[in-house]
Amino acid sequence: MQLKKRSRSKKGIRNSSIERDNGTSPKVKKYWIQRYDLFSRYDEGIEMDEEGWYSVTPEEIAIKQAERCRGKVVIDCFSGVGGNTIQFAKVCSSVIAIDIDPKKVELAINNAMVYGVADNVDFVVGDFIKLAPSLKGDVLFLSPPWGGPMYNKVESFKMDMLQPIDGYSLFQIAQSITPNIIMFLPRNVDLDQLEELAWLSSPPLTLEIEENCVGGRLKAITAYFSYNAV
Ligand code: ADP
Repeated sequence: MQLKKRSRSKKGIRNSSIERDNGTSPKVKKYWIQRYDLFSRYDEGIEMDEEGWYSVTPEEIAIKQAERCRGKVVIDCFSGVGGNTIQFAKVCSSVIAIDIDPKKVELAINNAMVYGVADNVDFVVGDFIKLAPSLKGDVLFLSPPWGGPMYNKVESFKMDMLQPIDGYSLFQIAQSITPNIIMFLPRNVDLDQLEELAWLSSPPLTLEIEENCVGGRLKAITAYFSYNAV
């Protein structure tokens, strides 16, 4: 496990311009057009890589998810370029942001600095699955890989399509840390399977499903599990 220093000098905020990413591949361009939905402060130095464009949580959704965790210690287990981490850092007591890819963690540090919240985050490069036994927190936020932009080509997204391990195993690991678990999932996720996760837990957990829309279109589902409401 490598702990990243929360140092401002590590990586300066770089200047960005609208032109900076406007020459990207057509695949990314589709996401680039929505850049202000992803980061309202995009022009102030936000940095992304290609995978980041596909997987970052739109800001409006991340704000809502963070509001549910106000004042808590949150672990953002697959933090990517930091869309959720930033919003948690604004309202939570502290955040542990984990990603297996050092490049993603660098980008997340930069992006958290753009929003002025990097000091409230412990950035960790590591495999969440391996780190789990050593983690402590009030709420676990799971936004695991959905398998790239193809996730919505299936009619019903199943728990075993999640990576790096299936959703059932992931949930079990998460529960060993806290019963307060938030999962950010594709809009076509099998809701019966989510209910199964809740009632198969011992004791059974409550489950609240939130539909996440941006611009009036359903983008994703957030599942809030807890003994009581998180
Ligand atoms: P999506 O399929 O939703 O686009 P990604 O493939 O971008 O998701 O994955 C989300 C993030 O999770 C990425 O930043 C990736 O580096 C990170 N990640 C993948 N596996 C692990 C892991 N075992 N532990 C921590 N982070 C991980």
